[in-house]
Amino acid sequence: NKYIVLKNRPKGKPSLNDFETKETEKPQPGEGDILLKALYVSVDPYLRGRMRDQKSYIPPFKLDEPIESMVVAEVEDSKNKNFSKGDFVSGMLDWKEYQVSDGKGLNKIKKNNAALSAFLGILGLTGITAYLGLEKIGKLKEGETLLVSGAAGAVGSIVGQIGKIKGCKVVGIAGSDEKIKKITEDFQFDEGINYKAAENIQEEIKKACPNGVDVYFDNVGGEILDAAVLNMNKFGRVINCGAISIYNAEEQPTGLRLEPFLFKNSIIMQGFTVRDYAEDFQPAIRQLSEWLKEDKLRYEETIVEGFEEIPQAFLDLFEGKNKGKMVVKV
Ligand code: NDP
Repeated sequence: NKYIVLKNRPKGKPSLNDFETKETEKPQPGEGDILLKALYVSVDPYLRGRMRDQKSYIPPFKLDEPIESMVVAEVEDSKNKNFSKGDFVSGMLDWKEYQVSDGKGLNKIKKNNAALSAFLGILGLTGITAYLGLEKIGKLKEGETLLVSGAAGAVGSIVGQIGKIKGCKVVGIAGSDEKIKKITEDFQFDEGINYKAAENIQEEIKKACPNGVDVYFDNVGGEILDAAVLNMNKFGRVINCGAISIYNAEEQPTGLRLEPFLFKNSIIMQGFTVRDYAEDFQPAIRQLSEWLKEDKLRYEETIVEGFEEIPQAFLDLFEGKNKGKMVVKV
């Protein structure tokens, strides 16, 4: 029974040396417990924050203890009346091949036509983040221009498609021509900007959004955020969802002072943490499932195979190696 621990607190960009795979006995469930076999493990950019010894909305990982993230697992043995052998569940679980749980906080997966891995992506926190970020802060109106960064990634690719469902012009920013092709051809975005090839990202946004930007869904922070904000229209809304471009920074990065531009244009820039909207998860999942069924939404996954590949899959997020949701099949 293999499990993966955090060996060192990474400095700057994490590396494989910061993780260690260990082995222990397969556990036995006690009275009221279930034995879970991990099937799919989610790797997510925010896990980088939990590798620092700092206070946040979620406690840091402890050194030499298993890392946790969202996992889809199968119940292999049950001594808990709420679960049966063969049930599938998702929840925040350890990076362990097998583990015992009392079942608290786990969601039973109702098998439908979606793949099990989708419960870590479009039908999990990823889809919910895209949907609720747009609902709660974006407040998109038909005909507006929506700009999204990390556009070929898990959250970004869903954000853009929801923008199209709502009748908006959608422009995505991503890190390769191949990703731009993907978002414009497969996901129906109107335009894409390869930020790695752009000489002046602010100008490129201006060109792609001649009527200005009404809603910017920010997954990356840093200079792309600055450039996007300077293209916002009056009463524009910025959804501050993530900032992967600065997650590995050892010193607090500095940049433009945006405040005069924000107040002169009555722009709202609001932080968004999906966990703060838990009471809205079920309606969000219902809507996403419906759009999936109607074929209005598509989803992409990058599936890496093998339990021991989890750390590498996590590192690859920072190199943009994924399209859509990065998931490890155990
Ligand atoms: P993604 O699937 O988007 O994967 C990360 C992507 O980020 C990569 O594929 C890469 O694409 C891009 N990237 C990596 N480094 C940089 C960089 N330096 N500058 C710009 N882009 C970069 O991950 P998720 O969809 O899971 O997450 C997207 C964002 O949303 C993250 O910031 C995450 O922390 C945040 N998030 C926030 C939540 C919340 O509750 N607030 C919940 C879930 C996610 P490319 O090739 O385009 O560079």
